[in-house]
Amino acid sequence: MRQYKTIVKETKEIKKLVCNKCGREIPVIEGVPQEDVLHVEKRWGYFSDKDNQLDEFDLCEHCYDELVKGFQIKIED
Ligand SMILES: [Zn+2]
Repeated sequence: MRQYKTIVKETKEIKKLVCNKCGREIPVIEGVPQEDVLHVEKRWGYFSDKDNQLDEFDLCEHCYDELVKGFQIKIED
């Protein structure tokens, strides 16, 4: 037989979301962003000058569109 104990795990929900590029606040209702955004989480590795640095940012859809417009190679749909 097994007996279990209840473990309360920490849960996180978004309380504030701001586009890093334009500074616009994205509305959040009960932890759910009301617009889709690009969220980037990058852990830099050994072959970078930022060894093990964690970078994180969010871009609203408008700023995402502006960013990819500047690409030499267009992204594929
Ligand atoms: Zn933006």
